[in-house]
Amino acid sequence: MKSYEKLLERAEEKISKELTVVKRFNVPKAEVLVQGNNTIIQNFSEIASYLNRDKKHLLKFLLKELAAPGEIKDNRAQILGRFTGEKIDDKIKLYVKEFVICSVCGKPDTKLIEEDGLTKIKCEACGSKRVVRKL
Ligand SMILES: [Zn+2]
Repeated sequence: MKSYEKLLERAEEKISKELTVVKRFNVPKAEVLVQGNNTIIQNFSEIASYLNRDKKHLLKFLLKELAAPGEIKDNRAQILGRFTGEKIDDKIKLYVKEFVICSVCGKPDTKLIEEDGLTKIKCEACGSKRVVRKL
């Protein structure tokens, strides 16, 4: 009896976990620290992995958008210039729209692939593909 209850408990846990995953796509807010003339995104790795994207790809996009040089240092990104968390979040939103969300079904279950010399966003949910610009 006891093991059956445990099993049930585990099944319920699993279901609620899966539900939260599909329920919402909440990109973590950028935790920004301005140090001198540099802006550090402290949770950069976390954001990239939440988006299921390469850190370098995301950084390249941000640097282009902000017209500033920068680099990845461990789990953080360091960008030359002073930027607010809101500004970084706005740019990440643009990135999500262009490189993460499927424009056909609106789901974030996508990946970037190289095909015929082009970078494409491929949707795992509906199977559609679209070409994205090279960064
Ligand atoms: Zn789709």
